[in-house]
Formats: sequence, structure tokens, C-alpha cells
Amino acid sequence: MTGMLSIVLPIFNEAELLPSLYERLRAAVDRTGMSCELIFVDDGSRDDSLDQLRRLQNQDRRIVMVELSRNWGHQAALSAGLGIARGEAVVLMDADLQDPPELIPELIAAWQEGAQVVVAERRSRAERGPRRWLTAAFYRLFAYLSDYPLPDRGGIFCLLDRAAAAELRRMSEVNRYLPGLRAWIGFRTTTVAYDRAERAQGRSHQSLLRLLRYGFDAVFSFSYKPMRLSILLGLGIAGFALAGALVIVIERFRGVGLFNQPVVVGYTSTIFAVLFLGGVQLISLGLIGEYIGRIYDEVKSRPLYIIQRMHRAEPAYAETRPDNPAAAQP
Ligand code: UDP
Ligand code: MG
Repeated sequence: MTGMLSIVLPIFNEAELLPSLYERLRAAVDRTGMSCELIFVDDGSRDDSLDQLRRLQNQDRRIVMVELSRNWGHQAALSAGLGIARGEAVVLMDADLQDPPELIPELIAAWQEGAQVVVAERRSRAERGPRRWLTAAFYRLFAYLSDYPLPDRGGIFCLLDRAAAAELRRMSEVNRYLPGLRAWIGFRTTTVAYDRAERAQGRSHQSLLRLLRYGFDAVFSFSYKPMRLSILLGLGIAGFALAGALVIVIERFRGVGLFNQPVVVGYTSTIFAVLFLGGVQLISLGLIGEYIGRIYDEVKSRPLYIIQRMHRAEPAYAETRPDNPAAAQP
């Protein structure tokens, strides 16, 4: 089998599960018979993930270590890894073992059958509680709002061929939602189904707030519908108000109310109208703000991440092939 495989893993405080992650990864990669580089992107971990990675790297020269200058977030860490990946195919996956490394050979098989983008689709998920229904609601909402199609059960876990990886690398947007961008670039895409496990150790490192923010990024960077909806809402309310005004004018001329009641000018309706319209205006302004804030972010065009240090054992290709007898053994 030819070609090198790059596997990109963002790491944020994952020290406890790094050893088991590495073991499972190694087993999966060895089964493919491809040479590979395992790119671990340390996203400003505050535990001893970095030491762990150094230790692993001493054992296995296929490991590439990227150290970001601070915690830049999941998407940025993935982008950093993608940026330096040199493989014929690039696998993006989470490091918490929610994305099973055992699926990698299947992704590769689909790629070898001609797919350029292979998305791992969750057949089921193990998460429970608010996170589960928030994600479910998000995917439903996104499917409705997005101007581009998105496989609704696909997360980060995927394989990209050289061309697709190169196109994703060209995307410079700061507010990124990689599954959306991956759908946006096109290419021959297939999916491989798997059962999503519970996080192997500890709790999710994305706070619920960050997850929400991620959802907003996804919606606002792939859809104009929220703004269009607010226009529709505005039109609807304006029409309703106009009809109301017409009724009042008629009542005024007839001198009696609609249902033959005396015409009484009440506060209730006035206050209701003012508050309601005020609320609608605030919502619409907020929506516009969401877009403008993102425009501001993009216009500043700051880097997506800053790499503080990178350590790659050279030469990375032939020498480290597992089937090469000259390969450096641990
Ligand atoms: N991660 C990261 N930077 C962060 C948060 C998370 O690199 O600021 C990594 C984390 O180590 C894991 C992956 O991104 O490999 C997914 O994170 P997590 O499981 O905490 O999020 P969730 O699965 O809830 O989306
Ligand atoms: Mg996770």
C-alpha cells in the first residue's frame, strides 16, 4: 500500500487517556499497513499531556507534536494539525476516544474505493442529558437553516484526501465550523456509520456555553435565513399593526366598537404593542449584531492559531513504516 496517512488529534487536558488512545491508534494504524504520522496538537493543556506526549514521541517516531501558544479551541487546534499534515489522506478526529480509532481502516477502505471525503456518521450517541437534546435540536435547526446541505450525523471525525485537505486549508475564516466547511467544499463524499461512545475519561472540555457559541458560528456562517426570518417577522407584525390601525379608524368613525361596545381607549393594547415591537426590534438588532461581530472578526484576519513549537522526528517517511525492518523500534 502506498502513501502516507496523517492523523490529526487535538489535545486539551487529556493526559489520563493518552496511553490508551495511543495504543488503540497504533493497533488501528498498523492494521492499515500504511506509513503514517500521528499529529498531536496540544491546545494549551494545563495538565501533563505535554509530558505524556513527549514520552510517547520517544517511543514512536511517527508522532508529531504541535504545541499551540495557548488554548485556542477545538476547531483551531484541528486546523493547526490540518495545516501541517503531509499525508496522502488526513484523518481528523477527537482524542477523547468518542471517535473510535478502530474505524480508521474502514475510512481508508472507502477512500481507496474512490471517495475523496469520508465522513464518519454516528449511528447512535452515548451522551445523555442536556448535551444530547441540545445537539439533536441543533442538527435539526441547522438542517432547516443552512443554505448548504450537511450530513446531519457527521461530526469532526472524517478522512480527507489530498485535494480536499488542501481546499480546507485554504479556508481562512476565524469563526469556523469544520463539518460545515467540509460539506461546503464538495468532492466525492461517502459516509461510514459507527456507534459513538461516551467520552473515555473525565468530562467534556467544551462548556455548554462554548457549545452554544459553536452552534451559532455554524448557523451564522452558513445561513442568511435568520436575517430573512427577522424580515418576515417584521413584515408580519407590521401587517398585523396596519390591520389593527384600520379597525381603530373604522371604530372611530362609527363611534362604536367592533362588537357594538363603546369605544374605550385602553392602555393594555398600547403597552402590549410597544413592548412587543420593542422586543422584536431588539431580536432583529441582535441578529444583525451576530453577523457584524463575525464580519469584524474576519476583517481583522488574525491568525486562527499560533504554533509555539513543533517537533517532528525526521525522516518521517520510509524509515517509520511499520513494515520496514529498518524502522526505529521502541
Ligand atoms: N479540545 C481542544 N481544545 C479545547 C477543547 C477541546 O483541543 O479547547 C479537544 C479535546 O481534547 C478533544 C476534542 O477537542 O480531543 C473534543 O473535545 P471534547 O470531548 O471536550 O468536546 P465534545 O466532545 O463535548 O464536543
Ligand atoms: Mg468529546
